[in-house]
Amino acid sequence: MIVNEATYLLKPGELTLKGGNREGFERILRRNLILLLSAALGRKNFRLENTNGRYYVFCNEEEAEITEKILDRFFGIAGWAKARKTGKTPEEVLAACAAEGRELSLRGIRSFKIEARRTDKSFPLSSYEICCRAGDRVRETVPCLEVRVKNPEAVIGVEIREKAFIYGDARRGLGGLPVGTAGRGLLLLSGGIDSPVAGWMMAGRGMGIDAVYFHAYPYTSEEARQKVITLAEIVGSYTLGIRLHCIGFTKVQVRIKERAPPAWSTVMLRMAMMECAERIARRNRCRCLITGESLSQVASQTIENLTCTQSRLKLPVLRPLIGMDKDRIIRMAESINTYETSILPYADCCSVFSPAHPILRGNTDEAKCLYEGLQLENLLDEALKEDKIEKCGALSANEK
Ligand code: ATP
Ligand code: MG
Repeated sequence: MIVNEATYLLKPGELTLKGGNREGFERILRRNLILLLSAALGRKNFRLENTNGRYYVFCNEEEAEITEKILDRFFGIAGWAKARKTGKTPEEVLAACAAEGRELSLRGIRSFKIEARRTDKSFPLSSYEICCRAGDRVRETVPCLEVRVKNPEAVIGVEIREKAFIYGDARRGLGGLPVGTAGRGLLLLSGGIDSPVAGWMMAGRGMGIDAVYFHAYPYTSEEARQKVITLAEIVGSYTLGIRLHCIGFTKVQVRIKERAPPAWSTVMLRMAMMECAERIARRNRCRCLITGESLSQVASQTIENLTCTQSRLKLPVLRPLIGMDKDRIIRMAESINTYETSILPYADCCSVFSPAHPILRGNTDEAKCLYEGLQLENLLDEALKEDKIEKCGALSANEK
């Protein structure tokens, strides 16, 4: 039950562009918000409304912080603001603007402007008049604040709709499209910096994410597995959860070490991972594979070796980082909060077996031929039988 109400105004992002598809997008946006808020607050402790291109979330003031955490990690909204909701008389609106101004000054802000929008034309002041009168009222109440039309430190927003909404602290949302509007993809998630960012980027285009992690126990440690689970938890907090498939690849790697020319071992391992991942994807209705590969970042990511890696696949492989340099990827990892975990120093299965002199420009026919010689079918079947699934992150829409 909502007792002490807090109000949030949400501005949808690219949804406004989606013409005929718009209804479907909006339905999924609503569903995602309801799922996340229900899981965090309980179904009775919030209300979600949408009218005239805005969404409104109402919750208890005591749960404002957790609600804001959810909004900060929600794909599909361009911005959000905690608002004062008042009746639609000029006096109530001006008083709320003054209160907002007081809060701005307490936060050390010295300049502001008013931006007003009036959807309800029966309100007696025009948008321009609201700006002038509210600006005056704020300055009278808080003399240390000055109006600055160009580059103010803060903007007080006034929206006259079914009610009047006033806010001084509008936040940028993640933008993008609601998760689930673009089917699902299977992310190859290592413990590195790149793959969590890759998954996050595709989620931002509306893709639901499952993930697969290949480990080589006892060559790789339990800590390494825990680290990947933590990464899946973080990425999953943006994607309505992630189902993480943990696959033991030790026998496959040992076979590669025994039978493949050492220079080819990383490319062979990548081909085996891709084949296994494709089978998991098909079983779980994922429409593509997603990797954190970036062109020429390491030997296995030259264009020739990437071509070898995907040469036996039918599903498309999406590589959202392909044209990004490492610094940019690191900055993104920091901003989505995965970086600190990614740099924990536990060996990945690739590094354990990696050769000193890997082939740089593999020939695809040769790669296929070598790969067939490895006769991995039974080993892959076995590995897939032992698929252990971890549910990570926010309540998974996958479960619904
Ligand atoms: P990352 O930082 O994500 O580990 P990287 O730069 O270390 O990337 P590689 O180790 O060459 O690159 O791996 C390339 C991609 O292959 C990874 O981004 C990931 O998608 C996939 N991958 C590598 N190792 C694994 C693994 N053990 N389990 C699942 N996927 C993996
Ligand atoms: Mg790696």
